Amino acid sequence: MVHPDTELRFVSPAIGWGVFATRDIPTGTITWALDVLDQHLSDEDIRRLPDYARELVEEYAYIDGRGDHILCWDHARFYNHSCDANCLGVCDDFQMAVRDIAAGEELTEDYGTFNPREPFHCSCGAAQCRGAVLPDDYLRIGGEWMKLARAAFFLIPTVPQPLWPVLRERQAVEAALADPSLLPSLFGLDDVRQGPV
Ligand SMILES: [Zn+2]
Repeated sequence: MVHPDTELRFVSPAIGWGVFATRDIPTGTITWALDVLDQHLSDEDIRRLPDYARELVEEYAYIDGRGDHILCWDHARFYNHSCDANCLGVCDDFQMAVRDIAAGEELTEDYGTFNPREPFHCSCGAAQCRGAVLPDDYLRIGGEWMKLARAAFFLIPTVPQPLWPVLRERQAVEAALADPSLLPSLFGLDDVRQGPV
């Protein structure tokens, strides 16, 4: 479920739609949490779909650390990529604002964190645009993602969290807030996709 202080806006004919803040969203806010209505589809599930549904999944779903395709039921599926994303999801079940997001600003994610199977060209316009998003971006950028996520994580208790009731990993988050040594397992750092930190 996407943060309630967001809405869908049309960006451009080339980009399509995007997710925009309707109010200021401070660093550390959980901006999306996996919820019970999001669909999980295996490769086999996708093979069985009719063409139109397979195309929708290929366009809008992301791949989680377990290899499932996750199709969000709400406008979370319209998050656009930025090589300078203001939201990061470093574990499968939630993402956070990694810097302050002003009302009217687009919320973006780094698709490199979504286990892409194929490289794709990027012209996101960020000063540090990588030019392409690659399946092994985590090898080069994983450490930077983790640094940003760690800084945002410890702000979780200090800012309003309307998605807290949705979050499935509340207990694990609370435990890691109390004992930072638990953070690596919450962030799945034993999982090879997260790369070195
Ligand atoms: Zn880019």
